[in-house]
Amino acid sequence: MIIIMKPNASKESIERIKEDIVEKGLTIHESYGEQYCIIGLVGDTSKIDASQIEANEEVEKIIKVQEPYKKANRLFHPLNSIIQVGNETIGGDKIAVMAGPCSVESEEQIIQLAKDVKKSGAGFLRGGAFKPRTSPYSFQGMGLDGLGLLKKAREATGLPIVTEIMSPYLVEKFVEDVDVIQVGARNMQNFDLLKELGKTKTPILLKRGLSATFEEFLMSAEYIMSEGNENVILCERGIRTFETYTRNTLDLSAVPVLKKLSHLPVVIDPSHAGGLWWLVESLAKAAVAVGADGLMIEVHNNPAKALSDGAQSLKPEKFDSLMKNLSVIAGAVGRSI
Ligand code: PEP
Ligand code: MN
Repeated sequence: MIIIMKPNASKESIERIKEDIVEKGLTIHESYGEQYCIIGLVGDTSKIDASQIEANEEVEKIIKVQEPYKKANRLFHPLNSIIQVGNETIGGDKIAVMAGPCSVESEEQIIQLAKDVKKSGAGFLRGGAFKPRTSPYSFQGMGLDGLGLLKKAREATGLPIVTEIMSPYLVEKFVEDVDVIQVGARNMQNFDLLKELGKTKTPILLKRGLSATFEEFLMSAEYIMSEGNENVILCERGIRTFETYTRNTLDLSAVPVLKKLSHLPVVIDPSHAGGLWWLVESLAKAAVAVGADGLMIEVHNNPAKALSDGAQSLKPEKFDSLMKNLSVIAGAVGRSI
């Protein structure tokens, strides 16, 4: 349920309404614009008498929110959320580009790639230290050593780092070291992990699960937000379909649909979606055209020798030309990159 106050509603009246709601055991999510004040109710609204609240002259109207996600719902927050990470933003006019290798492999590799992607215009360095691999015999990532190397790459370039967390036991460490914590597709419904991340303030890049519906995806965002962390970025990375030629099927409709349902920024990962390096440019262009707020792209200095996801990784030169080509499309849709 949301209460929309009249533009001239007094502070006292707003406070009184809020007190009544909190007394009934619900929590409040407030959203203010220049011309509006919205009070969102989170919790069991069955004890709330809507007609009684509506009797208040300073209340414009009450809307019952049908969807199970509340804090992630656009009704609770009509304006787009813009997430600040250092000097960079995600969700504003500038398209956020997160680029780097699938896995951190060595100091030399990550520092060189960080310099390369920065030079091409990326605003964030991505790189996995803890890798969720399908096979236990595949490279599992460098773990804490990899995290240390990402920090060195950040020091060398100033780029904020984005890296995946798999265990709730590492949340404290990640909060200390990482600028944007990634929750991978396979952990989208690891609810204990989501709850722990919700107790932090660090921006969370939440990837869509392999077969998750939009509602399931937004409910996972809600797990993080309901604990208090509203800095959530949604990432579409392809879903499982009957097609096997591509690694996954990029669901481009995710951008307009999620932006209609939610105020959270939406990023597209064309690398994991297609699984093929030569598909990345076409999919990235489509993502920008459809209104994505950001891109996550895998870049590797030597894809043929990469320890993970070489087949979908761009060489730095290719990434550089992609960034130039994307800026034309970004301009056409009123954005910059
Ligand atoms: C990754 O970003 O390297 C990754 C493992 O992604 P996903 O969770 O989308 O498969
Ligand atoms: Mn990868």
